[in-house]
Amino acid sequence: DKVYLNGNIVPPEDAKISVFDRGFIFGDGIYEVMVQIDGKFFYEKAHLNRLQEGLNKINIAFDTSNLLIEIEKLLSVAELTGKDCLLYIQITRGVAPRQHSYPSDIVPTIMMYAVPKVLPNINSVNAKVITREDFRWSRCDIKMTSLLGNVMLNEEAMQHQCFETILHRDGFFTEASHCNVFFVKNGIVLTHPANELILDGITRQVVFELCKSLHIEIRETPVSVNDISEIDEAFLTGTSTQIASIEQIDNHILYEDNKKGSVTKKLQEAFLKIKSLN
Ligand code: PLP
Repeated sequence: DKVYLNGNIVPPEDAKISVFDRGFIFGDGIYEVMVQIDGKFFYEKAHLNRLQEGLNKINIAFDTSNLLIEIEKLLSVAELTGKDCLLYIQITRGVAPRQHSYPSDIVPTIMMYAVPKVLPNINSVNAKVITREDFRWSRCDIKMTSLLGNVMLNEEAMQHQCFETILHRDGFFTEASHCNVFFVKNGIVLTHPANELILDGITRQVVFELCKSLHIEIRETPVSVNDISEIDEAFLTGTSTQIASIEQIDNHILYEDNKKGSVTKKLQEAFLKIKSLN
């Protein structure tokens, strides 16, 4: 186990951060998660672009263009070069006396770790989900480290032995606690627009590409909670989740006995193909 902290690669027990780091005090930071498959990070550029955009949105002055070199160093020391692993990157605003406003010369704290990870078989998840009001703030487009809302909403799914909690705001589904959510109705894929109410997932973007190449119609249209009985299929996407078929939403059963919808199946098969081409 190795941790990258501000240019040093050390064992986790030696990776020490000030209690006055604003990441600790305020959750004032941005994070990113990506996976290495067959020796290459999946959609690495898209992940690093999103990281840079997140930093720009909250005015953390850090340039991610040299990060790849640092990632390679970390993987090498962690003996994970070329191996299937998960990389976590966190950039917080830095250390300063506790007050909401921050000094203009504050230096960001850069932390990364990589752990071995083989993604689960895409067919092993047939998700049961619960639905809850999306009580998070209205800048869910920012992949910030303050995840209390997501943690609370995810915990409810765990209490109900469910895989995820899908969220709705003003009567329309937005996303899930750590995934994006898609619905299929009459062969058309529907998902919430990538605005400030959801995180524009990289896997979500992959689904748009797959739909295009498979000639499946996809629309950025919010789905009403009231229309759940008219839905033919639903699925979740995320870096670790990949594309997971949903079999049950609250008491509404979509599929039983490990069955899934034809559109979900097509997208999963196409996803597995691009994964192996990665
Ligand atoms: N939505 C939320 C709230 C998330 O936390 C995540 C991933 O962590 C996603 C969606 C999926 O994003 P990605 O496909 O980039 O992993």
